Amino acid sequence: MKTVGVLALQGDFEAHRKAIERAGAHAIEVRTSGELDHCDGLILPGGESTTMLKLLEEENLLEPLKRFSERKPVYGSCAGAILLAREVTHPAQPSLNLMDISVERNGYGRQIDSRIARVPIPEDSDFEAVFIRAPIIRHVGQDVRVLARYQGDPVWVEQGRHMVTTFHPELTDDARVHRRFVDRL
Ligand code: GLN
Repeated sequence: MKTVGVLALQGDFEAHRKAIERAGAHAIEVRTSGELDHCDGLILPGGESTTMLKLLEEENLLEPLKRFSERKPVYGSCAGAILLAREVTHPAQPSLNLMDISVERNGYGRQIDSRIARVPIPEDSDFEAVFIRAPIIRHVGQDVRVLARYQGDPVWVEQGRHMVTTFHPELTDDARVHRRFVDRL
């Protein structure tokens, strides 16, 4: 059975661990580069991207994570999507540049910053998507494939082995996003 690591420095890593097990893989929490060595893929969960970035630096995980991403798939949800982006705005912050996307943090604004929305999935049933202070993907590069959009903006995209969602599939029973990630391991 394949092993998926869930970065467990901050955020909702526990829900991703359970979602990965529902999708048929083994999940472990990752806090060190040694733990990363045991993984076939890695999830960067939702949470607070600025804090997560700071903790990745403090724990000396940035370089190991970059090396990992050159060989193995990484999936970022919400704050994780912000970390994987090429460019981050509102406000700007450094990122890992693993996917050719530009994201605007807290893109839906403060008034209605969290919602559950029905997101149409082409040729499949709608996804009940939970957005929590979600970023909006403002630009995608040529090599990025858009798997779903909400209000016209991409919310589930992939490029090569990597994937992001701006919503939180780990908070619902719908296993399609995690299964797609497990299938590419
Ligand atoms: N707003 C958060 C950020 O900018 C992301 C929110 C989330 O992951 N649910 O990092």
